[in-house]
Formats: sequence, structure tokens, C-alpha cells
Amino acid sequence: MAPLSKVALVAFGAINGANAWGVLGHATVAYVAQNYASSDTASWAQGVLGDTSSSYLANIASWADQYRLTKAGKWSAPLHFIDAEDNPPSSCNVNYERDCGSSGCSISAIANYTQRAGDGRLSSDHIAEALKFLVHFLGDVTQPLHDEAYEVGGNYIDVTFNGYSDNLHADWDTYMPEQLIGGDTLSDAQSWANTLISEITSGSYKSQAASWIEGDTISDTITTATRWASDANAFVCTVVMPNGAAALQTGDLYPTYYNSVIGTIELQIAKGGYRLGNWLNLIYNSDIAKRDLESFVKENQDSTFPELLGRDVLPEPRPLSRAKLARAAMGEACCRSEKRDHVH
Ligand SMILES: [Zn+2]
Ligand SMILES: [Zn+2]
Repeated sequence: MAPLSKVALVAFGAINGANAWGVLGHATVAYVAQNYASSDTASWAQGVLGDTSSSYLANIASWADQYRLTKAGKWSAPLHFIDAEDNPPSSCNVNYERDCGSSGCSISAIANYTQRAGDGRLSSDHIAEALKFLVHFLGDVTQPLHDEAYEVGGNYIDVTFNGYSDNLHADWDTYMPEQLIGGDTLSDAQSWANTLISEITSGSYKSQAASWIEGDTISDTITTATRWASDANAFVCTVVMPNGAAALQTGDLYPTYYNSVIGTIELQIAKGGYRLGNWLNLIYNSDIAKRDLESFVKENQDSTFPELLGRDVLPEPRPLSRAKLARAAMGEACCRSEKRDHVH
């Protein structure tokens, strides 16, 4: 058993987020992860988050999206994506040195918060924050357009989906998953997660699930997270825009395009959840289980804390590329708009 009485001291800070992956995608990733977290990992995470409910990860899965919209959290906006400066649909690839901007990216953030989540020198608030960021970013990194610089991750590709004008990025984040599931509540997410878990356990994902986490190691977080980003980025060429962006702007994406991509959306959500469960187990097993939290905190009170932005894991700074300038012009946000500009 995890030392619940000790970690309970560390708690508080869970936010019941509910609005617009989107909310559905992130909560589903979280529920899938909860299924694969060991009981010790679960007790640790529940203690850190101050939430012993059966939705302890799902409840905070979209916290990072709310935080980045606040004045205090604006700095974290670039951490939701990596702008791969490749050339879809003819060439897709991610290069950490080339693509991670000087303010950080999803890969540097995953490296940084993995280290911080297991660092007993940090305050309870900072450990909870690290865990909340990880739960979110391991979801974001599986969304192919969060690993693509082209048209600012598809935010500037205007399309029509099921009669509504929006952009390709928002369709992938939110509207296509919601078209599939029919809602974005936690119970929608739980039931989608149950479907995906049964595909992993005994269905169409059974033979491949092991490959989703093959080689994942918290002793080389940059390499591991770059592999996740590369895996998702490859779909930009093969599934997201196999015939280029212009081909997506000539008619309604529903139902033909939707039918051609929805299987990939489901796959990526399942993958994100399976990886997250395993990742939290790795953090727990190598960093948390090994020490007595209280004595560790005492011994290390005066040592230097890892720095919040994770600058130590960023590539060397270099002049801004055109893609980085385009992103900067958008205020480094991940998405042009959270909601459709017109109502139902
Ligand atoms: Zn995000
Ligand atoms: Zn997005």
C-alpha cells in the first residue's frame, strides 16, 4: 500500500473542470489511464490530487487548458504542442532540436513534469501541478495536429464540418470526437473509455497495445516523448491530409472525411490513455516507492529545485523560423477558437 496518510498531507487543488483533445478526449484518456494505473500508483495520485473519487484523473484532465487561458497561466500555452516544421503530406517528421521553440513545447514539458512529479523536494502544490500537466500533455501529444506546424497545427485551415464552418484543428480536438460519442460529459468519457479498454483487453487493439509503450522509459524522457510525437505526426501525412489541405476545403468533411479519420482518433485516444497509465506507474515505481516522502523532504529542504519552465531540457536557442513567427502571431495559443463562432 502507498503511504496514504503521508501523501494525503500533500493534497488539494483538484478542479472539477467541465466545458470544451477537447474535454471529452482528455477525460477519456484519463479514464483509460486509470484502468492501467496500479493500485499503488492510484493511491499516490489520489493523495497528490486530494481526490479519492473514481474520476481522480478525469477531473483534472483539462485543467491545463483552463490554466493557459488565465493571465497567470499564459506562459504554459506553448507546452500543449510541438510545431513540427516538416512538409505534409509529402514528408512528416518531428525533430526536437528543430521544432521545440525557445519557450518550450509538449516534449520538453513532458520531460520536465515527469521529473517534477517524482521530486519530493517540491511543494505539494508543485507536485500536483506536475501531475495535472502530465495527464493533459500525454493526451495532447497523441493528437496529430498538436505535432504539426503546417497552418499553425491546422488552426488556419478553414473547413466545413456537418454544416458548420470551423477549422481542421478544432474538428480533430473536439467536433469529430463529439460527433462519435454524442456528448462531452464525464459519463460520456467513461463509457467511451470502457469501449476502448475492451478493445485493448480483447479486441482490435490487443495485438498492438504492447507496442504503444515499447521502450518507454523515464530515464530518457525526451527520446520517449519524441517517439510519441513522431508516431502521431506521421498521421498528418497518411490520415489527416493525405491529399493536402486544399482537398479538405472543397466540401463538407462529414461524412466521408469523418469516416476516414475517426478510427485514427479512437486509436490515438486509446494509446494516450494506455501510455499515461504506464507512465504514471513508471514514475511511481522509480521515484515514489523508493523513498520515504517525509524524510526525503526534510533532507532535501535546502537543495535547488528544478526550475518550473524546464529550461534545462530545452534545445539551444536559435532565430525564429517562419512557422515559429506564425505561432507567435497567434499568441502561442494552441487553438484559434474554443467554440464555433455561430450557434446551433
Ligand atoms: Zn492542451
Ligand atoms: Zn488542440
